[in-house]
Amino acid sequence: MSSQPAASAAPVVTVKLLLNGKFVESSTQEWQEVINPATQEVLASVPFATDAEINAAVAAAKQAYKTWKNTPIAARARIMLKLQALVREHMSRIAHTLSAEQGKTLADAEGDIFRGLEVVEHACSIGSLQLGEFAENVAGGVDTYSIRQPIGVCVGITPFNFPAMIPLWMFPMAIVCGNTFILKPSEQDPLTPMLLAELALEAGIPPGVLNIIHGGKRAVDALCSHPDIVAVSFVGSTGVGTHVYNLASQHGKRVQSMMGAKNHAVVMPDAHKEQSLNAVVGSTFGAAGQRCMATSVTVLVGAAQAWIPEIVAKAKTLKVNAGSEKGADLGPVISKSAKQRILGLVQDGLTEGAKLELDGRSVKVLGFEHGNFIGPTIFSGVTAKMKIYTQEIFGPVMVIVSVNSLDEAIEFVNNNPFGNGVGIFTQSGAAARKFQNEIDVGQVGINVPIPVPVPFFSFTGSRGSKLGDLGPYGKQVVQFYTQTKTITARWFDDSATSSGVNTTISLK
Ligand code: NAD
Repeated sequence: MSSQPAASAAPVVTVKLLLNGKFVESSTQEWQEVINPATQEVLASVPFATDAEINAAVAAAKQAYKTWKNTPIAARARIMLKLQALVREHMSRIAHTLSAEQGKTLADAEGDIFRGLEVVEHACSIGSLQLGEFAENVAGGVDTYSIRQPIGVCVGITPFNFPAMIPLWMFPMAIVCGNTFILKPSEQDPLTPMLLAELALEAGIPPGVLNIIHGGKRAVDALCSHPDIVAVSFVGSTGVGTHVYNLASQHGKRVQSMMGAKNHAVVMPDAHKEQSLNAVVGSTFGAAGQRCMATSVTVLVGAAQAWIPEIVAKAKTLKVNAGSEKGADLGPVISKSAKQRILGLVQDGLTEGAKLELDGRSVKVLGFEHGNFIGPTIFSGVTAKMKIYTQEIFGPVMVIVSVNSLDEAIEFVNNNPFGNGVGIFTQSGAAARKFQNEIDVGQVGINVPIPVPVPFFSFTGSRGSKLGDLGPYGKQVVQFYTQTKTITARWFDDSATSSGVNTTISLK
């Protein structure tokens, strides 16, 4: 969650702004500490950019757009080819920084970077992605064609939970389409996006094409209402995402807002028990449950209701430790306030009568006694009205719901307002097919626990998890970051005879 910074003097290690191709020190008086969630060590201090710095970023992007928009496609693609090579080369170094500031395990930090890297790889094929269309002879001697042009200065606002992947969802695709970009990363873990920005400059992204400012609500609101910004991509919580969508839309911007979630895994009695329970447990507790596509609700159907002891046994085997430590399965949650919020929801679950099958509240991690750790926690007997069901917990907490049939499971999931992801575990093709057809959730996994599409497709969360019709990456984001212009053309041939003045709408 974003918090307002306390006014203090700038400490020694400061996160820089990226303005017009240069990493510069902010002149702000507002700073916030970047804290290692496993140790509470202060890693750096992040500035909340001044209004003048925000305006300077927009001005630099606006100026750079004048030439960048006409840079040949192959030149843009070559920069992305270089960027993907650099990210790959520096993967381990970035993963260490990511794990230190975000808390996830090193293996998962590499996964975070890798899922972003896949988008950079896809950006290299912009030549075919941004192709237009051509129809010859739509009327006598008349051709119609469409071209996809860049739109201008675009903004990305990113959350704390994927400090590599989500910035990489945004700036490579925006830039490779010919736009210029301002990234406003999460103030909780800005070091990883800054490493990516260094590599982007090394790859050849010209001054002003990518800019980075830091801050919270003031910076976001300034960007969403700035007259020179044309599009805003947001990823984060539902409350903030709705605000961003409304504010930026009111100011005439194109907006896509990917927001909170409550993802269900429906486990049928005919599911492959061992594989399915491994998948569900891994997806619930991986990254300490701080994934927008984490399974947070397990729906046990019919005889699968008897599998709770196995789920609990599997969750007990997971090792809670600092992300830097070998063998860690889940690290700490991002902040002390996030931990308090999650513990508050666990208490609500108890108060409202859910059965606590596994209690991770008092987990101790040797050597990391000050970390924001919560162990895997499982509730059964959960109903649709309980707070642990209605609210996004965003922590290592599984809530188990029991139903008697697939129809009941589908109805239960469809009554939830969120629509980011859902999974079904079954060995029945007929059940899976019925499920994919009737379920009202934008991303469906069939025996796949975290169905985040690869970048040749788009990220297609739906309903309460998304505002705006076009999602990140894939073909949809090329539409988002470009404007289609359609041209209808006739070339007069000197030898052709004129048919006279035509006062109708038809093309002849
Ligand atoms: P957040 O909403 O607190 O912050 C997201 C961004 O908004 C940050 O850059 C932050 O600085 C800014 N911000 C915070 N408060 C603001 C305010 N009042 N006004 C304007 N801007 C503000 O989200 P978070 O806690 O960093 O991330 C976790 C959330 O993100 C979860 O809800 C998760 O489900 C969601 N998420 C969704 C997706 C998706 O694709 N649907 C992906 C990842 C995360």
